[in-house]
Amino acid sequence: MPVWRAITRFMTSDAAAPSPTTPISIAALPTLAGMSRAQLREVVMDAGVPERQVRMRVSQIWRWLYHSGVRDFEAMTDIAKPLRATLEQSHALARPALSDRQVSKDGTRKYLIKLGPGIEVEAVYIPGVGRAGALCVSSQVGCTLNCTFCHTGTQALVRNLTAAEIVQQIMIARDDLNDWPSDEDNRAITNVVFMGMGEPLYNLPNVMTAMEIISDGEGIAISRRRITVSTSGVVPQMHELGAEAGAMLAISLHAVNDQLRDELVPINKAYPLKELLSACKNYPGASNARRITFEYVMLKGVNDSDAEARKLVRLLAGIPAKINLIPFNPWPGAPYECSDWGRIEAFAQIVNKAGYASPIRTPRGRDIDAACGQLRSQSIKKRASDILKERLAAANPS
Ligand code: SAH
Ligand code: SF4
Repeated sequence: MPVWRAITRFMTSDAAAPSPTTPISIAALPTLAGMSRAQLREVVMDAGVPERQVRMRVSQIWRWLYHSGVRDFEAMTDIAKPLRATLEQSHALARPALSDRQVSKDGTRKYLIKLGPGIEVEAVYIPGVGRAGALCVSSQVGCTLNCTFCHTGTQALVRNLTAAEIVQQIMIARDDLNDWPSDEDNRAITNVVFMGMGEPLYNLPNVMTAMEIISDGEGIAISRRRITVSTSGVVPQMHELGAEAGAMLAISLHAVNDQLRDELVPINKAYPLKELLSACKNYPGASNARRITFEYVMLKGVNDSDAEARKLVRLLAGIPAKINLIPFNPWPGAPYECSDWGRIEAFAQIVNKAGYASPIRTPRGRDIDAACGQLRSQSIKKRASDILKERLAAANPS
């Protein structure tokens, strides 16, 4: 679902978003937003709550945070005032600031989230049918892998996001979409996909903690069957993802022979196709009802022939699979072009005939350049001088 072809540039920027030069308060209190139950437990104990009440207090705060989405301690009405006051002295309920927010004509929303001086990640909301929709979240700032068709791979700055920073992306989007309290029947965000910036399996412990928080039935309550993790093929971590986290799996395949995949998705040199597909065959929980998604980006004259479509079908035999054909999203200086529409359709037909549902991802949010991982480097260029100023200010607080 969530990679969109973007053709034109920014259209609507939110005037209410803070200016990029807004100073960050150094004295900001740590926020409860995004904390795990274990972290909240510590906070509650530090606030002097007697041992026998800790569990109950954690549950109450949890519901306020993740079911109701409150941003004010006063709203926590079942928590005694003195405890509220103590919590408020040491903690906030704030989310990270937005550097930018854009809304496309088709309802796609893109959030550029500021995590520190010069550190930004994006999350993209893609509306579905009715009020349903998916949020595409980032797992790292940048990416250490260098897939040749991906803009994120060209970005230098890399660090893992914390579990809280992953959860906060969902909280920010839910704030914006008026999607609190968590209500099973009427949600804007029904699915979460890890298809933003970064390689989630290189940050698996934090991704798993984040999944635990967002799938918890007393809070955000998005079930694990509605959480999809996309990987370029980090084979050693795949089993754990299925067995421990119970996530739905997506594989960025993009090529049907090792020679080409070595070039497009260089991690293939470490974990070639045979190993990758064998890990898919053994993925815990995969079944016809829970298929593995294979993403295949359509690159003109590179991987888009009929012969490759037939080979793709042969490769996936025996794996409960569905195939997503993604029109290549070009970026400045990219060494590829997107396949022609007719070629994509011909390719899709071969795959469909073999019995694979092969939706071609409809381009979404074109007018706001809402392709996951594509925006950040542009915004960095746009505001390089602002970021430099911030870094200097952070290094030399006056
Ligand atoms: N790192 C993980 C998840 C993030 S990328 C992964 O690679 O799976 C999410 C998807 O977007 C991947 O399938 C990736 O191959 C695809 N993608 C990256 N750049 C793209 C581009 N320019 N056009 C189309 N799809 C792209
Ligand atoms: Fe990283 Fe995924 Fe982009 Fe490859 S496609 S560089 S793994 S974000």
